[in-house]
Amino acid sequence: MTDFDVIIVGAGPSGATAAMYLSKAGKKALLVDMAEFPRDKICGDAQGRKAATIMKELGIYEGYEKLPGQKIYGITLSSPNGTLVHVDVESRDKPAPGYVHKRMVFDNYLFQCAKSMAEFRVLTVNDYIVEDGFVRGIVGTNKKGEKEEHRAKIVLAADGANSVLATKMGLNKNPLEHFIVAIRTYYRGVTGMTDRIEIHMVKSLIPGYFWIFPLPNGEANVGLGMIVKDKNEKNVNLQEALLHEIKNNPLFTERFKNAELVERVRGWSLPIASYHRKCYGDGFLLLGDAASLIDPLSGEGVGNAMISSKVAVQVAIEAMEKNDVSEKFLKKYDKDLWEVIGPEIKANYRLQKLGKMFPQLIDSLMVKAANDENFRQKLEKMLPYTGGRKEMGEEEFLAEIKG
Ligand SMILES: Cc1cc2nc3c(=O)[nH]c(=O)nc-3n(C[C@H](O)[C@H](O)[C@H](O)COP(=O)(O)OP(=O)(O)OC[C@H]3O[C@@H](n4cnc5c(N)ncnc54)[C@H](O)[C@@H]3O)c2cc1C
Repeated sequence: MTDFDVIIVGAGPSGATAAMYLSKAGKKALLVDMAEFPRDKICGDAQGRKAATIMKELGIYEGYEKLPGQKIYGITLSSPNGTLVHVDVESRDKPAPGYVHKRMVFDNYLFQCAKSMAEFRVLTVNDYIVEDGFVRGIVGTNKKGEKEEHRAKIVLAADGANSVLATKMGLNKNPLEHFIVAIRTYYRGVTGMTDRIEIHMVKSLIPGYFWIFPLPNGEANVGLGMIVKDKNEKNVNLQEALLHEIKNNPLFTERFKNAELVERVRGWSLPIASYHRKCYGDGFLLLGDAASLIDPLSGEGVGNAMISSKVAVQVAIEAMEKNDVSEKFLKKYDKDLWEVIGPEIKANYRLQKLGKMFPQLIDSLMVKAANDENFRQKLEKMLPYTGGRKEMGEEEFLAEIKG
């Protein structure tokens, strides 16, 4: 006998989304998280079209649009040589294609929507019940420090970059070139902010970048990220690098002159999808960061996390109907998921590698976009965060930049 159809560990974007899809399908789900919401998550706080599509499908987009946040209509990009390009992805009379909402706000919204549909418990999951090689449930510690065990037909692990289940199953082993480490803080009073997110490909971080994402009330989410292997090889201290750029990069010095730091700088890791992690096994599926689904070029992870939840729920329901939660059947999740997200990831990984090998390519791209209106318009449709298109890393496009 199981207590639930499905247990979901982690109530971030992937866990909350899975709980909502399951509830809509009439399944009995238990959602657990070690944190009480609202809780923070270190992030750039930007949400693009993929997340919007899922929220529309779940019928929660209207409420999302009303959350305190900054509407985003485009991207400001700069290349290693300092060339600046402003790319708009939608006209201002149309609904905003993206938003920057603090994760404290965004995740809490998703969580509250999920909580109204599924049972939730604050529980730190320390281990899993495994019988005959099958994951059958969770073992955790509740707020009172008591041990709790719960069982389900299938377990979805949506517990982020340090997933307990991915670690237990030996699946959390991305090589260092497939991990990004990034830091984030909030500033108030940065000048020159617009309704575009800013991605600056500064020389020392390539193919990582420095970002400034606008928020309401004069605040900005400011951070930078690098591939862990590069960071280690170049011996970069990310916090020092951030302050160095702000103080010395001509693009930022004036703009940060009177800005004040409103939160301490904090870091977190990003398992990226250039490493195709096994995301299923007997009795379980891994979702979102636990499955290493973050875009290797942009660092955008929320959209793919929510897509993984939708696909995982479809496969989990099928598995329960067939009474087959074996690894052999659940492999379908990996296949179905990568059919949706794979082409874009592949193309963006290619671009990430090219940018690293030939930073002058990024300069060429920006210079071309700055001088060629047709090319700039083409770029608008391809950028990560905007639509999720695959063409950007492909031969034809690269030849156009080079040529
Ligand atoms: C610095 C930085 C900047 C980023 N910027 C962006 C951005 O601008 N846009 C974007 O789309 N993506 C961004 N990302 C990636 C994005 O944050 C992740 O891809 C996204 O949060 C993944 O969602 P998730 O639900 O899978 O995991 P998470 O959001 O990490 O949620 C996991 C949940 O599991 C819970 N949990 C963990 N362990 C346990 C346990 N043992 N027991 C119970 N509960 C547990 C946690 O409390 C948490 O609530 C960024 C990441 C970083 C680090």
